[in-house]
Amino acid sequence: MTAARRVLFAGLFHETNTFVEAVTPLSDFAISRGEGLLACAGDSSPMGGALATALGLGWRVIPGIDLRAMPSATATDEVFELFWRELDAAVAASSAEGLEAVFLVLHGAMVTESYRDVEGELLCRLRSRPGMEHMPIFGVFDLHANFTARMADNANCLVAYRQNPHTDAREAATRAVHLLHRCLATGEVPRTHWVHHPILWPPTGTASVAEPMLSLLALAQELEGSHPEFWCVNVIPGFSFADTEEAGVSFTVCTTGTPGPAAVALSRLAALAWKGRALGNCMEAPALEVVREALASEVPGLTVIAEPADNIGGGAPGDGTGLLRAFLELRVPNAGLALTDPEAVHTVRAWVAAQEGGPHSFPIPGRLTLGVGGRKSSLDAGPVELEVEVVSLSDGTFELLDKNSHLASASGDHFEMGACAVVRSGNITLLLTSRPTPPMDLAQWTSQGIAPGDFSYLGVKAAVAHRGAYEPIAARLLWADTPGPCTSRLATLRYGHVRRPLFPLDADA
Ligand SMILES: [Zn+2]
Repeated sequence: MTAARRVLFAGLFHETNTFVEAVTPLSDFAISRGEGLLACAGDSSPMGGALATALGLGWRVIPGIDLRAMPSATATDEVFELFWRELDAAVAASSAEGLEAVFLVLHGAMVTESYRDVEGELLCRLRSRPGMEHMPIFGVFDLHANFTARMADNANCLVAYRQNPHTDAREAATRAVHLLHRCLATGEVPRTHWVHHPILWPPTGTASVAEPMLSLLALAQELEGSHPEFWCVNVIPGFSFADTEEAGVSFTVCTTGTPGPAAVALSRLAALAWKGRALGNCMEAPALEVVREALASEVPGLTVIAEPADNIGGGAPGDGTGLLRAFLELRVPNAGLALTDPEAVHTVRAWVAAQEGGPHSFPIPGRLTLGVGGRKSSLDAGPVELEVEVVSLSDGTFELLDKNSHLASASGDHFEMGACAVVRSGNITLLLTSRPTPPMDLAQWTSQGIAPGDFSYLGVKAAVAHRGAYEPIAARLLWADTPGPCTSRLATLRYGHVRRPLFPLDADA
């Protein structure tokens, strides 16, 4: 019998949108460590999948620290330095007990005040520690990573998700654990080869069911199948809203073979990406135009209209009023929209509390005038004033209906929207949440006693990740352009750090 493998697990997960005007403090991160981290074994997150697989293989898991937050603005230095201090201490403590490898759950597009390549900095520090020069460093990451040279140089084998929406985050984590198991069993240690290509795609262009991703993923699979020395071939479309030197499309091959075949494989992938570059540069028509056409060509059932510029899953505040304004102007019938607005929720709650004759039954008779949305981004036109009826209040906690969803890949089994209020104004029902809530699970609505399939029109603040939840209940999915920090019109954003020339920002890319 072989001795149990001693592997240190840690996670640092944040997709940073550097165009959002704020910072993300340590208090926005969920922190788990030690027994608390082990407790997530088996849940829907990639860490849960990795831990369950490792424990199933009989490893001796050493739990380090796990820090995660929903996509948002640049993280403070405190976040990364806390993570590093604790990881460093865990490595020191476990080295004495025969540590054999480190397994990391990363996003890959994290930016802090001081580091634009946080994961590269982390891997570089880890590799530089005494005793870590030859230690296998494996892990899993989100395909929206902006992979870097420092990441490739200092990790042995990081496995990317293949699906967007990320329905396979757990599966990718499981695959990565099995590859590390192979490494420890055989003593073969792969190296990562990487190529960056001068292409930036908005998230709307990175769906795995559409081109150019479809062909790239197929080629990656083919290369993996035809080269036994390739442990994994990753397609990494990048995250266009992190303004960093190496932002954009890249590919990695983790191999125990010679560099030659990896270089050939990488150049084939890069050439295919370049050929399909325009297909990934998706842009939507203006919201008024999209909504007007939808009304003119009405279909029975639910029409879902996505507003990628205010994509909560991409770090946008989720309080943009662009689509709401189009709904109101065109008097869209039987419409629903969820909006982040803690201030409006507070106003509604205060109004309800001040009503005489409680306890109340909802909807409460009477109306209040309420400003909603438009507070967080200077790109937005500002709050919309509405006269509303209060339908319900809640604490905003829900259990995910789909535990394999994109949302589960980030948050696990439960989600907290914070205090919520459902209000109605004319044809439109608004779900006001206190925390930005990516529209990736129908329980966001059903937990409020509302069946989203009963709407005729539903606005969602997403680019691609809403498809898993809404495709099964929608008659059609549409996309609309509105002002916001996740706009698909990349050329309208002020990039300062990306390496130029770069498609589609420069004609000579
Ligand atoms: Zn992602």
